[in-house]
Amino acid sequence: MTANTDIRYLKGVGAKRAEILKGKGIDTVGALLRFFPRKYLDWTDITAVKDALPNQNVCIKAKIATPIETVETRRGITLYKFIASDKTDRFAVTLFNQRFLAEKLKYGCEYLFYGKFDENLILRQMNSPIIKEVSFNRIEPIYNASKNMSSATIQKLVKTALSTVEMPEVLNNKIRTENRLCDINYALWNIHFPKTRDSFEMAKKRLVFEELFCLQTALSVLKTKSHSLSGCVIKNNCFSEFQKMLPFELTDAQKRVVEECICDMRSGRPMSRLVQGDVGSGKTAVAAALCFVAAKNGYQSALMAPTEILAEQHYKTFCSILKNTGINCALLTGALTQKQKTQVKNQLNNGEIDVIIGTHALIVNDVEFNNLGLVITDEQHRFGVAQRGKLAEKGNNPHTLVMSATPIPQTLAHILYGDLDISIIDMYPKGRQKVDTYCVDSSYRQRIYNYIKKFLNQGRQGYIVCPLVEENEELDLTSATEYYEDLKKNEFKDYSLGLLHGKMKPAEKEEVMQKFARGEILLLISTTVIEVGIDVPNAVIMVIENAERFGLSQLHQLRGRIGRGEFKSDCILISDSKSPETQKRLDIIKQNSDGFKIADYDLNLRGPGDFLGNRQHGIPQMRIADIFADKNVLITAKKYAEYVLNQDPTLSSPENKPLKDEVKEIYKKLNQC
Ligand code: ADP
Ligand code: MG
Repeated sequence: MTANTDIRYLKGVGAKRAEILKGKGIDTVGALLRFFPRKYLDWTDITAVKDALPNQNVCIKAKIATPIETVETRRGITLYKFIASDKTDRFAVTLFNQRFLAEKLKYGCEYLFYGKFDENLILRQMNSPIIKEVSFNRIEPIYNASKNMSSATIQKLVKTALSTVEMPEVLNNKIRTENRLCDINYALWNIHFPKTRDSFEMAKKRLVFEELFCLQTALSVLKTKSHSLSGCVIKNNCFSEFQKMLPFELTDAQKRVVEECICDMRSGRPMSRLVQGDVGSGKTAVAAALCFVAAKNGYQSALMAPTEILAEQHYKTFCSILKNTGINCALLTGALTQKQKTQVKNQLNNGEIDVIIGTHALIVNDVEFNNLGLVITDEQHRFGVAQRGKLAEKGNNPHTLVMSATPIPQTLAHILYGDLDISIIDMYPKGRQKVDTYCVDSSYRQRIYNYIKKFLNQGRQGYIVCPLVEENEELDLTSATEYYEDLKKNEFKDYSLGLLHGKMKPAEKEEVMQKFARGEILLLISTTVIEVGIDVPNAVIMVIENAERFGLSQLHQLRGRIGRGEFKSDCILISDSKSPETQKRLDIIKQNSDGFKIADYDLNLRGPGDFLGNRQHGIPQMRIADIFADKNVLITAKKYAEYVLNQDPTLSSPENKPLKDEVKEIYKKLNQC
């Protein structure tokens, strides 16, 4: 049995469990070993009862000081109650319906209790603690369990796997010695079953390094051939000609960024540049300027957007800006008929089309260009690194530009996006409407509905955003689906409503968004999937339910959907959370409109792990590393990745075989995210 053995063949697994594990992304024994615990319960770290703070998890070692009393409640719940004590104090324990556990416990014996005390001052109270024999003095791993597979089961399987296979070593001796990293098998044992806190730290350090090292190796291999010569040198700088055609004056920031790009495009090397600009900063006009310049110099350009609706939106914008210039724009998306597609492809091939705007449809194999000189990807975090490269391969070292509204600290962007240079649009177009933001609790709901109706009656549109798709019984959160049904039947029965969430098929989502863009839907009930970059200037109101559930950057991105037209726009955040932290966070959103500033606060308040929420950066989700907190490791790992690739560019030596396998895995994920 090796790391690559199908998980089904691990002792204790079988067909049914294999199915469940595969659902968690665990296909092989090796993948199981890299399924790390979500958290740990430290049964070695004992707190004295008198020192325990309320509402914090503690481990207590105490004797059961009274016989266990059984109480039947009227609602049919059986309670088991007793008093326990250590040398410092007593506390009351209540178990709910846990008969097996209660029958095992013996009056007068000592146990370990893991749980939280409530704030009762007279006699501390612990409800449903986890209880273990005192001999259980170890650090226990807790795994992401599911309904049909408990953490304890996963724990057992991991132990079997650890004793059955030796994992191959991805980090060679030199790297391990120079960075003081333990070997892989020690690391895996101690990340799952830490002997001590120190051995856990050793294990974690090594696994973080390994993960970032493999990521960097994968990214380096993918890096486009940016040091070769470009065949697409821009000789004629006709930017001023472009500016004259525009219905508005570009901001100084837009002009600077275009000039930076043109400078690259004249240099004789292919441009590789990332443009970061907050929502609404006007990235599309920058893209249009560069396509214009490329076309005037005889080169074709391609602009790739993540969705059909965004592609169509860009197409319309480009057509209106570039009309009367003789520059020929076209659209290529999955929505075209076969015949239309064939026609567009022919015209691309023979050079009749100067600027092509499209979706993933652009990277299909049979799309061929005549003279592709410039490749732009919009909302780049929505594309895998690999996809970007694929489009560029269709030209002869074309210039590439990626545009993103996700504010990533610069140093990090440099590392994550390899060789990209960075330009920032740090200014908004004049006359942009400031969005007023209000924070209220749900007692205002009726008033909010009336407020929304006032706008809808004037012909404006709006959004209501909820955190979840389906009802969740544990957390009292508003779900988009139920909310939509309810509003449609009752409060908003006279209005055209739409529902949008991530579990819908892409085509269904697209259709709803189209209807909203055309004004056929007035009020859109949605989860956070509302398209980044969508421009519906008629939408002027956004209500966000359970606002405390969203990250600051996420709230900011959402809010960027409104305030895009001539009308005054309002954003209303609803939250019943009384926690001072929540209030502070919502205040920040209320008082700030600068995405980079908000991102900074976000980073500080939430901790780096959550910063970008759901994989907004086009980098696969990390298992253990945190690209923000572990930034320094990332920099070191990059150095070593380059070193290894210098020695063995194709990773074909036997020593590098395990690394090559890992890199292949990362490609798969890069292509998915
Ligand atoms: P984003 O950077 O979020 O992609 P867009 O390119 O969609 O922003 O631009 C947002 C809106 O601002 C569009 O309606 C666009 O026409 C307008 N706009 C862009 N640049 C300017 C400018 N310099 N002056 C006035 N309006 C502008
Ligand atoms: Mg945009």
